[in-house]
Amino acid sequence: MTFKAAGFKLDTQYNRVRLSKGSNLKEYWSDFILCEYKTRPDVDLSTVESVQQVRAVWTGDEWELHFVCKVEIEVAEAPGEKTVGVDLGINNFAALAYEDGHSELYPLNCLKQDDYYFSKRLARCDDSDSDQATRLNQKKSARRTHYFHTLSKHIVQRCVDEEAGTIVVGDLSGIREGEGNGESKNWGKHGNLDLHSWAFDRFIDLVEYKSEMEGITVERVSERDTSKSCSCCGRNRKSNRVERGLYVCDDCGVVANADVNGAENIRQKVSPSPSEDRSNGWLAQPSTFLFDKETGAFAPQEQVTS
Ligand SMILES: [Zn+2]
Repeated sequence: MTFKAAGFKLDTQYNRVRLSKGSNLKEYWSDFILCEYKTRPDVDLSTVESVQQVRAVWTGDEWELHFVCKVEIEVAEAPGEKTVGVDLGINNFAALAYEDGHSELYPLNCLKQDDYYFSKRLARCDDSDSDQATRLNQKKSARRTHYFHTLSKHIVQRCVDEEAGTIVVGDLSGIREGEGNGESKNWGKHGNLDLHSWAFDRFIDLVEYKSEMEGITVERVSERDTSKSCSCCGRNRKSNRVERGLYVCDDCGVVANADVNGAENIRQKVSPSPSEDRSNGWLAQPSTFLFDKETGAFAPQEQVTS
């Protein structure tokens, strides 16, 4: 639901916004909803030149208000010209493939633990509409938001460190509908984790926004065939298969982490691979980054104690 300039009145002093419910009643302001809002700590709406739109978005747990603002930002110069491929998925939330051949995985360990914890506590609530249940859902949703912000920030920083100019990310819109090629990912419930496709869209938006400030471009490409083709020899054969998360190519014999193989194929859609020989194994040995609850940041698996 979108409210244009005439449809809302913002009061940044008391963090309230008045949303008009009907256009025909707009003149009288007689039919409106008064909402109190809370912004992230790094956002201060009173310093924003103008808020152009207010959008009310249902996230599945609660209503979120999105303020569309006009702000001037200082854009850095691109840190380099390299490309990084990003494959988003449900097993590893993100797999990154860099131009020089190394790769990184970001599993959802922390979100899975969170979901398990919250679903257990929610199950103990007498009524799913109770205040307690609402508070739990809000807390769960806030923690997810925080997690996605931290992860997108971390990934963009890694791309800055690696002198990237372009982040290539698989466009999920086609996959969601299935595209009829059997490649559709299984969104929704996965073990304890229920993650909707909008979480991925929102995550890409976050990466896009943070990349822009670093001078890095984000390109969305079709995910078609990126999970089925071999990123080493480019062949797409039925006999190529995924076994326990590994992609095995019958043609060139490569064994790669399946998500990294996808990320590398996505990367190559923008920047075709140089012909250098990549010895078997590099794709199969990505570094894994986990969310460290003690530091609130992502760190290589071996450095995370919990
Ligand atoms: Zn191959």
